[in-house]
Amino acid sequence: MRFLCVLLTFLAIVLSIFLGFGMYNDSKDIERFDKETAVFEEQSGLYRAEINELTPKISALSEEKASLKAEIDAIKRRIIYKTQPTAFLTFDDGTSGNTNQILNILKENNIKATFFVVGTQIENSKAGQEAIKRIVEEGHVLAIHAYEHEYSKIYTSKEAYFEDFDKITALLKEMTGYTPKIVRLPSGTATARSFCERYGGSTDVYYDIVSELYARGYTVIDWNVDTEDWNTATGVSGIIDRAVSGAKARLSKEYKAAVILMHDTADTVKALQGVIDGVKDLGMGFEVLVQGGYVTRQIAETEKP
Ligand SMILES: [Zn+2]
Repeated sequence: MRFLCVLLTFLAIVLSIFLGFGMYNDSKDIERFDKETAVFEEQSGLYRAEINELTPKISALSEEKASLKAEIDAIKRRIIYKTQPTAFLTFDDGTSGNTNQILNILKENNIKATFFVVGTQIENSKAGQEAIKRIVEEGHVLAIHAYEHEYSKIYTSKEAYFEDFDKITALLKEMTGYTPKIVRLPSGTATARSFCERYGGSTDVYYDIVSELYARGYTVIDWNVDTEDWNTATGVSGIIDRAVSGAKARLSKEYKAAVILMHDTADTVKALQGVIDGVKDLGMGFEVLVQGGYVTRQIAETEKP
C-alpha cells in the first residue's frame, strides 16, 4: 500500500512536470505565432497598398497597349497597299432599282464593296430598304453620303450640313442598328469646298463641316478613279475603260490602291463584270473602305489650314 502511494505520488510529479513543460511550450508557440501573424499582417498590408497602387497603372497600361495595337493595325492596313495592289469598288447615291443587280454581280464574284447611300433614296422605298438589308447581310460596307443630295441646301452652313447628316445617320441606325463611320461628301471634298464658298459664303463652312465630322469620329474618303458612270454619254465600255485605266495608273503610285467611284446606274450594272475582270487582270485584289485603312481625299487637311 505504501509502495502504491509512493508510486502514485511519483507518477503525479512526473505528470505535472510533463504537463507544465507542455504548457510552457504551448505558450511559446502562441507567442511565436502571434509574432508571425503580426509580421504577416504588416506584409499583407504593404502588398495591398502596392496592389492598390499598381491596379490603375496596369489598367492604364493595358489601355495603352490596346490603343497602340489599334494604331499598329491601322498602319499595317495602310502600308500594305504599298506592296499589295488593291481596288475598292464604291457605289454612290443609292440605293436604286439597280442595287440588287449590283449586289448579285458582286456575290457571283465573291467581292465586297462600299456603298455610300442617300437617305431620300431609301426612306420611302421598300426596294431601297431591302437593298440596305442585303448590303449589310452580305458583308459589304454601308457608308454615309447624305440624307438629301442637295448641294445648295447642305453646303449653306455647318448647321445645315449636320441637320441633313443627323437625319441619314438616324435612318441608317434605325434600319441596321449601327451608325456607319465612313463618309463621302456629296460631290467630293474639292467641289464641296467650292459649293460651301458659293452657298455658304466661305470655304470656312467646308472646314467646319469636315473638322466636326472628325471630332465626331467619322472618316471622310473621296475616290482616286472616276468612272464618270453618272454621265450616260460615258457608256458601258467607257465605264470599263476609265475604271481599268484609272486602276492601272495607281500601280505606279506609292500606294497601289484604287478607290473606284461608281453609282447605282443601269450602265454600271452592265459594265460591272467588265470592270471586275479588267481590274483583276491588273493583279489587284478587292477590299472595302474601313476606318484606319486606306484614305484618299482631294483635300487632305481636315482642319482649316
Ligand atoms: Zn453623290
